[in-house]
Amino acid sequence: MRIVIKIGTSTLAYKTGRLNINLMESLCKTISDLKNAGHEIILVSSGAIGMGVGKLSLAERPKDMPTKQAAAAVGQCELMYRYDRLFSEYNHTVAQILITGEDVENEERHRRFRDTVFRLLELGALPVINENDTVSTAEIAVGDNDTLSAIVATSVNADLLILLSDIDGLYSADPRKDKNATLIPTVDKLTDEIMTLAGGAGSSLGTGGMATKLRAAKICTGRGIPMVIANGSRPERLYDVVAGKSVGTRFNA
Ligand code: GLU
Repeated sequence: MRIVIKIGTSTLAYKTGRLNINLMESLCKTISDLKNAGHEIILVSSGAIGMGVGKLSLAERPKDMPTKQAAAAVGQCELMYRYDRLFSEYNHTVAQILITGEDVENEERHRRFRDTVFRLLELGALPVINENDTVSTAEIAVGDNDTLSAIVATSVNADLLILLSDIDGLYSADPRKDKNATLIPTVDKLTDEIMTLAGGAGSSLGTGGMATKLRAAKICTGRGIPMVIANGSRPERLYDVVAGKSVGTRFNA
């Protein structure tokens, strides 16, 4: 299978912006193993701004554009350094691709992006994609990596998109506010009722939330690609997700 896996900032890093080392190690180990088993994996990783916050010892996620872009420049470097080191341990080669909305809206640039990803996959490399936060502005940005990963999944004709998050999946109500909220294991149709289950942004370091995840589900499932939201706190769950077992919420195509 060709699988796009997206990991969010709140899963990769602690609230301090510092890396969750254990988690990243088991993520890289599991993805390496899935690659060894013959799957083609494309990783969409957030965490550039979050890790920049940690490395620059900023008190919080910056709100102004220059500091955000500076934090992204620092954090992206750290992020790829970590991925490179950890995947190398399992003999896998990472390739960094940074894109903005313009790269997928412009037909010629979109084609080149896809050709590069396909060539990297042929060469056995692991594309690690993020928004090019250092140069992207609100006008040209995709804006969040849930949407970006759905765009990537449709661009490369993926068989499955997996969003690893700090939440187990889609709930019948906000589980942080309502203790009677129950996990919805399968969504066959993105009805208006389902779309209203999305709340606001999920964490202080990341950008996404359930709204962007449901938007991603709409993009993917509309193009025939199923999507799963699963809790990323134990990356070994990826084995079950890939095996089609019930983990988190599966949005059928
Ligand atoms: N591109 C951002 C980063 O790497 C994350 C965007 C998101 O959290 O969706 O920090």
